[in-house]
Amino acid sequence: MEILSTDLVYYLLPIIIMVASSRLIIIKNNLDIINKELKQNIKDLQEQLREEALHSDKKITGLINSNVILREENNLLLNKYEGKNISPGNGPLRYKDENGVFYYHGIGHIEKHYRWWKPEKNHAIIEYKDTKKIQFPDWETGNVKEFCNNCIPSQKLNKNRRVKFYYICQGHKIKTH
Ligand SMILES: [Zn+2]
Repeated sequence: MEILSTDLVYYLLPIIIMVASSRLIIIKNNLDIINKELKQNIKDLQEQLREEALHSDKKITGLINSNVILREENNLLLNKYEGKNISPGNGPLRYKDENGVFYYHGIGHIEKHYRWWKPEKNHAIIEYKDTKKIQFPDWETGNVKEFCNNCIPSQKLNKNRRVKFYYICQGHKIKTH
């Protein structure tokens, strides 16, 4: 019996090796296919990321440009006010309405990319009692009366607030010529 079983092993061994190696070839082929797919996926993702980066770069450049234009307009307007004693306040006028008649202090559409943005913050000015907390002097101040002469406290935004107070600029009518 012992001799027979040894013979059987010798007889079967090449078959076992053949089956095993053909399985290995199949597995290797499958892995090659998966590998190829993964490489393609990585390539696609890289391409996608590159496009997205380019797109957001353009967006940021656009926002910076529009901010620069508004700043320039603001300087022109302040120059017009000088000596006339009708200053809208010492804060920068950052936005204007579609007709270019009313100019506004405070937060606006340029800030839409911030997480804290919400529609009720349009034209909002923030007053801090502690001026060390001011991070954005374009729309934050230690003295709202000096910053804007035509604003009212925001009932919506001031709920339970003690550190900062929101005011909404009501607009300043400016004749540009
Ligand atoms: Zn104002």
